[in-house]
This record gives sequence, C-alpha cells and structure tokens, in this order.
Amino acid sequence: MHTFTYTALPGRVVFGRGTLARLPEELDRMGLSRLLVLSTPPQRGQAEALAAATGARAAGIFDGAVMHTPVEVSDRAVALAREIGADGTVALGGGSTIGLGKAIALRTGLAQIAVPTTYAGSEMTPILGETAGGEKRTQRTVKVLPQLVIYDVDLTLTLPPALSATSGMNAIAHAVEALYSPDANPVVSLMAEEAIGALARGLPRVVEAPGDVAARSDALYGAWLCGTCLGAVGMALHHKLCHVLGGSFGLPHAETHTVVLPHAAAYNAAGAAAAMRRVARALGVEDAPAGLHALAKRLNAPTSLRELGLPEDALDRAAEIASRDPYPNPVPIERAAVRALLGRAWAGDAPAH
Ligand code: NAD
Repeated sequence: MHTFTYTALPGRVVFGRGTLARLPEELDRMGLSRLLVLSTPPQRGQAEALAAATGARAAGIFDGAVMHTPVEVSDRAVALAREIGADGTVALGGGSTIGLGKAIALRTGLAQIAVPTTYAGSEMTPILGETAGGEKRTQRTVKVLPQLVIYDVDLTLTLPPALSATSGMNAIAHAVEALYSPDANPVVSLMAEEAIGALARGLPRVVEAPGDVAARSDALYGAWLCGTCLGAVGMALHHKLCHVLGGSFGLPHAETHTVVLPHAAAYNAAGAAAAMRRVARALGVEDAPAGLHALAKRLNAPTSLRELGLPEDALDRAAEIASRDPYPNPVPIERAAVRALLGRAWAGDAPAH
C-alpha cells in the first residue's frame, strides 16, 4: 500500500543542444526586456556571448559570482540590477552563479532564468544557501525558484573532466537521498532511479571524451532529474555531513559529496533496503554503496577526505557537529557510528555496512 504526499513545483524547462538560441523567444513569452546577465569571472566570455545573442535586451553583465553566495556580493549585484533598471536576471553557470540569481530574486522579486553549466542541480530547487559573517544559512522558499531553466548541452562541453565527475556524483547524491527521504513519493523515486542510471551511463564517457555530445546529454539529463529530486523532497545524513564538512571545515562542495556518498549510503543501507535496491539496479550492480564507490574510482574522482585536505584530528569535531540536532534519516544518527563512517571516508576505505 502506498502512502505519500507529493507537491509539484512550477517552472519551465527547455532542454537540448543549442537551446540557448531560444532565449529571445522565451523572453518574448515572459515579457522581459532588460536583463542582468550573471556569471563567475572565468565564465565572463560565455556571459558576453549570451548577452550578444540577446541583443539590446541584455542591459548589463555582473561577473562576480563566487562559491557560497556571500551577501556582500549579492548586495553589489542587486545595486547594479537597480541601477540598470533590470526586469530579470539570467544566471549562466554552476550552483554558485545560480545561487546569486536566487539571492537577487529573493531581494527584488525580479524574474529569474537559469542556464546551468554544471550538474549541481540548484536551478530546480527552491533552496538558497547564503554566507554572512562566515556562516552559511540555508532557506527554502519558492521565491528563489527560477521561472525558466534552459539546459544547453553545448555549454557543458567545456566543463573539465574532473569537475564533470564530481559535479555528477554531487547530482547522484540528491537522487540517492531522495529514494529514502521521509518525503519520498512514487514520482520523485521514478525520477531518482532514472537519473542515477543516466548519470552512471554518461559520466564515464564524459570523463573519457569530454566532447562526446551524447554522453554530455545523458549526464545533463540525469542532472536535471537529480535537481528536481533535491527540490522536491528533504535530504538526510549525506547532505548534512557535506554541509558540515564544507561549512565548518572549508572542504570543496562537489568533491566532498563524491567522497562521502558511498559511505553515507552504506550507513543508511540497513534502514533503506528498497532504496538501495533501486540505486543498485540503476547502477547495474549488486550492492549500491560498493557500486557508488566503484563509479567514483572509475571517474578518477577523489575517494578520501584526506586528499581533500581535511586533517585527521578534525574528524571528532565533524562527527560531533553532524550528530547534533537530530533530523530525519533512515537509520538513527549516532556519534560513534558517524565518526567511524568519517574515518573510513577520510582514509579512502571501501564503504562498510
Ligand atoms: P560552481 O558554480 O562554483 O562552479 C565551479 C567552477 O566551474 C566555477 O569557476 C565556474 O565558473 C566553472 N564552470 C562552471 N561551468 C563550467 C563550464 N561548463 N565550463 C567551464 N567552467 C565551468 O560549482 P557547482 O558545483 O556547480 O556549485 C556549487 C555551489 O552551488 C555550492 O555553493 C553549493 O552549495 C551550491 N548548490 C546549491 C544548491 C541549491 O539547491 N541551493 C544545489 C546544489 C549546489
């Protein structure tokens, strides 16, 4: 017997190759005429190309997006949006740039378009994490959900193989935790299983041949579904651990997800047997945590917290912070067990369950 709640989120998605060329007609549909284009400094060139293709409707470019959405950066971008009389933003980039677009939407109510170029999935979520005074706070509000998302496979061809691998594993983490979320429901679980399969097929080919358009398409399609899962249901131990390791110990976002995921899945396996069967089926393996670990290795991605620069003496404190404030998880969160999980992840051991 099924018992579930499902809330659908609004939003339009345009997916394919060369889809950025459809931006002008999408702007007509949305009635937008003065856009602020957002990017990181290294993606300024892509932002300029987008602005050129948009013609007079691109009223300005802000290329100062950085990781973790610091409020000072958002304030500067909002000031520019007001100065140029913008009626919307287009964020071209990964989770950092899309986070800036969300922060602007939260403060101004401006229309928001996202053009994702990584697999992080932020574009499909009503979630915004912002940093102020060195502390990252996350909130969930539909005010930050982009109205339009344009996935253009061509824009992902430049994502370096190493970043493609970790960004893709970051995406898979959303789908894995969606399958055992307390809010899990049949629609989201279908998306999660399909997403893991698409990424597991696409990523190894992307890493081998970053210009393989069909592989890039599989990976981006999977990433879209993973982002939808993240936006639709609550996450558990894995995301909490990564939040702690990134927020309190400064570890890099996608790499940390890659290392921790097999171990978090192993921790939760006993309380999430049905979810693990679906993960394993999507990966084409017998055992889900071992399959996730093998996938990370096959992608030449990092498999230990040690190689990400975490000192071993940080593990006790990380376990303590991660075990505070109990939150829903298929298996109870116990400090000693979390410490053991982190120890294995630090050393790069195989996941144990
Ligand atoms: P990122 O946006 O920081 O991008 C990493 C680097 O890659 C940047 O320098 C960027 O310019 C570059 N880059 C991106 N796409 C490229 C491309 N196609 N070609 C060449 N270079 C490219 O990394 P990310 O992992 O996408 O995002 C991480 C951030 O997003 C974190 O702050 C995380 O918390 C946030 N995030 C938020 C959500 C949410 O729902 N709110 C979801 C996932 C991630």
